[in-house]
Amino acid sequence: MKRTILWFRNDLRLHDHPALHAALKACDEIVPAFILDERYLQRDRWGFRRTGPYRLQFLLESLEDLRNHLKELGGNLVLRIGLPEREIPAVAAEYDCTAVYASQEYTHEEKKVEEALKKVLPLHLFHASTLYPPEQLPFNMDQLPEVFTAFRKQVERYVRVPFPLETPVKIPVPSLEEGALPSLSGLGYAVPPTDARAVLRFRGGAGAAYERLDDYLWNSHSLSRYKETRNGLVGADYSSKFSPWLANGSISVRAIYHEVEAYEAEVEANDSTYWLKFELLWREYFKFVAMKHGRRIFFPGGIQGKSTSWKDNPGLFRQWAAGKTGDRFVDANMRELLFTGFMSNRGRQNVASYLVHQLKQDWRKGAAWFESLLLDYDVASNYGNWMYAAGIGNDPRDRVFNTAKQASMYDGDGVFRALWLEGAGRDPEAFWESFL
Ligand SMILES: Cc1cc2nc3c(=O)[nH]c(=O)nc-3n(C[C@H](O)[C@H](O)[C@H](O)COP(=O)(O)OP(=O)(O)OC[C@H]3O[C@@H](n4cnc5c(N)ncnc54)[C@H](O)[C@@H]3O)c2cc1C
Repeated sequence: MKRTILWFRNDLRLHDHPALHAALKACDEIVPAFILDERYLQRDRWGFRRTGPYRLQFLLESLEDLRNHLKELGGNLVLRIGLPEREIPAVAAEYDCTAVYASQEYTHEEKKVEEALKKVLPLHLFHASTLYPPEQLPFNMDQLPEVFTAFRKQVERYVRVPFPLETPVKIPVPSLEEGALPSLSGLGYAVPPTDARAVLRFRGGAGAAYERLDDYLWNSHSLSRYKETRNGLVGADYSSKFSPWLANGSISVRAIYHEVEAYEAEVEANDSTYWLKFELLWREYFKFVAMKHGRRIFFPGGIQGKSTSWKDNPGLFRQWAAGKTGDRFVDANMRELLFTGFMSNRGRQNVASYLVHQLKQDWRKGAAWFESLLLDYDVASNYGNWMYAAGIGNDPRDRVFNTAKQASMYDGDGVFRALWLEGAGRDPEAFWESFL
């Protein structure tokens, strides 16, 4: 009887799961396991919770959905809290597993965990979060172009996005001690209220993710207008809102890509349908940037290694984070983030530019605030975009946004600013004290 662990990480789905496929092929039984990494529940160097309440709640919902789905196929999910490099070997010993199958991560801390685990168990790693398998890129990783357009042109021309793998029909497991799914309060968090102004009620899990894909493409045909609406600020459909599910892997990026192509074949192909694939390439690019540059994506001078002199003024930072700078466009966006865990791409670019270029504060502190609050936090996309905004990433230009001009272009009627700054708003300071 050959038994292996299927270690779930940011790949919380059964559809298009290469490690799961390989494990089922190679073994008689698998032990699906997820370890809630206690490091992510701690506070960071700035005092922020590394995982704030929104993303943690979303993660717990995702795990519940995954466990239910596994059970429907005869399986289950073992859940533990601790350090994966300790807990996975413990689970392996308990169930006589001889190896671990998992999806590969590309960022420093996550890779260190892989290295530690490899020392005690054979670890088979697969690519689950990128469009392109990295080994099929038309260049070695150390020659990844430093400019996005050069990268995009090469991959679009020379590499094909593989078709997603089918969901297995059966998950053979031994009798498992599943471990209770913790609650937010059980983990020491207060539960923030839901905010009726949120762009969407983001529900964790593959079920909700694939529903959203259906809605955005086939039900509302919003995809057909994406290029015109993508800079929007209010409502569910100005952009896809796929990002939280993509970040924890409840949905496969390859599945999205091929669904867009199916839509192009059956409904219409236009600039908008292409543009969604184009944006997925940005996500892809930042993953490879992280792979190429390792820890440098966290350095004060970024991957350019620029010498920098960021200021540290906690009062100014708090005004920014609480949406109290006096710049109404920045404040509205920061309150949306604080009260819901989401912010539009247009908003993110503006608030990042404001923190770095107007307030001259350390971009890494801004990135850490986003890390704590964002539902869709993704190491590579977050740090990649922040470096970009700070002028130390993959764009040699300083991208300074004129927030007044941006507000008049993208919120000309003031509806977005009014939504977050007037009326039934909560007090940001009190909110911060109670929930973060
Ligand atoms: C300072 C800053 C920090 C950011 N941090 C994150 C983060 O932690 N996690 C994250 O997923 N995105 C991040 N983004 C990128 C982008 O803002 C979000 O992906 C997007 O707003 C999510 O909404 P959506 O799914 O509706 O996007 P859509 O506009 O519908 O785009 C579709 C998908 O393309 C990808 N995408 C779009 N724009 C970008 C981009 N600029 N960089 C990388 N991928 C992109 C995302 O996966 C997104 O879900 C950040 C951007 C900035 C400027």
